[in-house]
Amino acid sequence: MLVIRIRKPAGEPGKKEIRQVALTRITGLFQLATETGDPTLSRRYLGIMEAIAKRMDITLPANIKRSYCKKCLTLYGTDSMVRLNNGLIVLTCQNCNNVRRIPYR
Ligand SMILES: [Zn+2]
Repeated sequence: MLVIRIRKPAGEPGKKEIRQVALTRITGLFQLATETGDPTLSRRYLGIMEAIAKRMDITLPANIKRSYCKKCLTLYGTDSMVRLNNGLIVLTCQNCNNVRRIPYR
């Protein structure tokens, strides 16, 4: 897995910098996942992305978090069902039928 080890007496990158790098990788992986037409590949990218986020203790940006199914790691596509109900966005995954409810203002 991702191991960042830099041995420098001075100017060692702080947690903030490492997180910044991780976030760059996360957005990169997400982009790869959306651009590839292969669902297996995109699932793999999303899996790596989640692993990095978990390891670095990063909350995924809202736009990324809401664009794929957490259960089966499938990007919500045109087949996904999106409904508004009582101030909630109800997302149904086209692959595993997992339902997610996200509040909106
Ligand atoms: Zn799903």
